[in-house]
Amino acid sequence: MTKTLLSDLKSGEAELIAIRRDIHKHPETAFEENRTSDIVAERLTAWGIPIHRGLAKTGVVGTLKGKRPGQRVIGLRADMDALNLQEKNGFAHCSVNPGKMHACGHDGHTAMLLGAARHLAGNPDFAGIVHFIFQPAEESEGGARVMIEEGLFDKFPCDAVYGMHNMPGLPVGQFAIRPGPLTAASDTWTVTIKGTGGHGAMPDQGTDPTMPAAQFVLATQTIIGCNVPPNDTAVLSVGHIAAGNYNAANVIPATVTIRGTARSYAPATRDLLERRLGELARSLAAAHGCEAEYHYLRRYPPVVNTKEQTEVAVAAAGMTGGAAKVGTACSPNTGGEDFAFMLQKKPGAYIMIGNGGDANGGCAHVHTPLYDFNDEILTMGTAYWVNLVSKELGVEG
Ligand SMILES: [Zn+2]
Ligand SMILES: [Zn+2]
Repeated sequence: MTKTLLSDLKSGEAELIAIRRDIHKHPETAFEENRTSDIVAERLTAWGIPIHRGLAKTGVVGTLKGKRPGQRVIGLRADMDALNLQEKNGFAHCSVNPGKMHACGHDGHTAMLLGAARHLAGNPDFAGIVHFIFQPAEESEGGARVMIEEGLFDKFPCDAVYGMHNMPGLPVGQFAIRPGPLTAASDTWTVTIKGTGGHGAMPDQGTDPTMPAAQFVLATQTIIGCNVPPNDTAVLSVGHIAAGNYNAANVIPATVTIRGTARSYAPATRDLLERRLGELARSLAAAHGCEAEYHYLRRYPPVVNTKEQTEVAVAAAGMTGGAAKVGTACSPNTGGEDFAFMLQKKPGAYIMIGNGGDANGGCAHVHTPLYDFNDEILTMGTAYWVNLVSKELGVEG
């Protein structure tokens, strides 16, 4: 990182820490990020960046034009939402909203993108336009999809889009990225097997949905073992089974509901999971005189980084922390990420920034009650965004 950039960013670090901790203390979940988006809008406006509000309810887009001539337009995206989780940290910026917590670091993502907006507003030495996209509802409601449906890229056309997420366990100062799939398609399925149920002492008098239900649970893994191509990969997990009444162990229930998640990378494998789960549910139910209702919900597509933009991101991360600190051979992970919807529309790249290990103070895994975003990386992440803009829009176009 150049000395001027580093010293510039260091002098603004205290403000970013204050913003980050303030957002952490007041977490807001899907489409209710009103206070958070007020902070974002107020800061951007104070730095002279025109804003648009209201996409996907709480979305904010700031637009900054470089002082050099150029036609290229890029979008930088941060997510703003928290999770429905009770925080168990004891520090001063611990959540004051019961049952809600910034356990994924979106408070830090918001602060880092604000840091970049502040720096670039003061140093607009680039050619083209940057849209700072602050989106709601990443965790489960697909805020990125809603912003797009409500006209994000019609109002703010972009030639490329970029995203970033912190990664606990990856040391501070390091980045990880890969071309191609980085996160999985994340889907939810529900099977309800219906029989007659009946008296537990007389199973022959009716049909028992617990038998095909048990067989179905085991059979899901034959999809992974027998149907998914051996050089591809997928995950099927059961997350919920419900049937009968705990206080009526002598009653065969009439229905069994089984719900789970499906993760995949290749579109054909995603289709395969959807088809085979239904085939198994219906055929196993039929074999026992029962019926199956089946529903497969496609939630998030996989994040797929384009080659050219991945190279730009790698170069920007290398400018930030040194080329040796940028890993480009990480395995795709099976988590879901709704930035994938933006990457379905535009070329772009999503990068992971090291949040450090457990040792440096409460930075445990994301989605756990003791997690906290590591303030040490605020400057690093801000510098990545600034360097990315100079890589993308540094030459006249
Ligand atoms: Zn998360
Ligand atoms: Zn997250």
